[in-house]
Amino acid sequence: MTPLVDPQGRTVRDLRISITDRCPFRCTYCMPEEGLQWLPRDELLSFEELTRVARVCVERFGFTSIRLTGGEPTARAHLPVLVEQLYALGVDLAMTTYGATMRLLAQDLKRAGLDRVNISCDSLRPERFHAMTRRDALPAVLDGIDAALEAGFSPVKVNTVLVRGVNDDEAVDFAAFGRDKGVEVRFIEFMPLDADHKWTHEHVVPAAETLAAIDAVFPLEAVAPHGSAPATTYRYKDGTGTVGVIASVTQPFCGDCDRVRLTAEGRFRTCLFATDETDLRAVLRDGGSDDDVAATITAAVGTKWAGHQIGQVTFIQPSRSMSQIGG
Ligand code: SAM
Ligand code: SF4
Repeated sequence: MTPLVDPQGRTVRDLRISITDRCPFRCTYCMPEEGLQWLPRDELLSFEELTRVARVCVERFGFTSIRLTGGEPTARAHLPVLVEQLYALGVDLAMTTYGATMRLLAQDLKRAGLDRVNISCDSLRPERFHAMTRRDALPAVLDGIDAALEAGFSPVKVNTVLVRGVNDDEAVDFAAFGRDKGVEVRFIEFMPLDADHKWTHEHVVPAAETLAAIDAVFPLEAVAPHGSAPATTYRYKDGTGTVGVIASVTQPFCGDCDRVRLTAEGRFRTCLFATDETDLRAVLRDGGSDDDVAATITAAVGTKWAGHQIGQVTFIQPSRSMSQIGG
């Protein structure tokens, strides 16, 4: 096993796998309301192909964590079967989901070996939730959070994207919700990965502003530095849990990035904002050996750039939306 080190000296050990581009929601900051063509079934990597790439990453390069995402990962049939296959690799196995199907799936996913789950929720107000996701599904998502807790996932985290003028008045409500439920809410800054390409700096609610609003009501203190984890975590001074911020725009953490991504159709990406990708599926389907897969991954990681340049004139928004890349 040889660690995979990129040109900036960062060791890559975290694989994010988008297992489908499909999603029943249409979050305004992620997907277009209509017009998205789903990939044909045979273009998606099979469970065997996904597991093979993951196995090469673990065996050859010592990857320590895998996160399933999408699109909506629970939209993929027989998901617990994939989780069982990946669990056998012995890594930290997590999933990011919209949560609306967790009542049906949580127990099976836990039994199959999923370690951790993040559930996305952007408003606690039903009408606003509907406007943001274009689906009337807040009760199902809240029930999904309960189901994840009942199934024994620990910790359960809630991902919340605050958008200026849309839901930026809900930071304290979410903090109260997290404290009450025993979940860690993580506020993610809105990034220029929306399908409609309407993102501007003015839409971003800086993490510092979110933390100040929460601290004024529920005093916070910093938890030790976060290493390569994207979230910076704070603890409530009264001991009632933690809250996180992912300040991708205002305080980029690219210098600590240890992540690479695989899209649903098997394109290997070295950055969320990469404009180039490598066709790993072609290697898999053209009869490539594990050595070929490993060499392709090594070559791609050799091009991993220092970081995104949001806010600079050189920044180019990827043509794919977050739902097609995998958040
Ligand atoms: N469907 C699943 C879900 O919503 O959790 C997994 C895929 S989704 C693309 C992964 C995460 O990306 C979600 O937490 C979502 O809120 C976040 N996300 C999507 N578009 C984003 C954007 N433009 N900026 C910041 N976060 C975004
Ligand atoms: Fe679907 Fe997740 Fe994108 Fe919302 S954020 S549209 S749930 S992929």
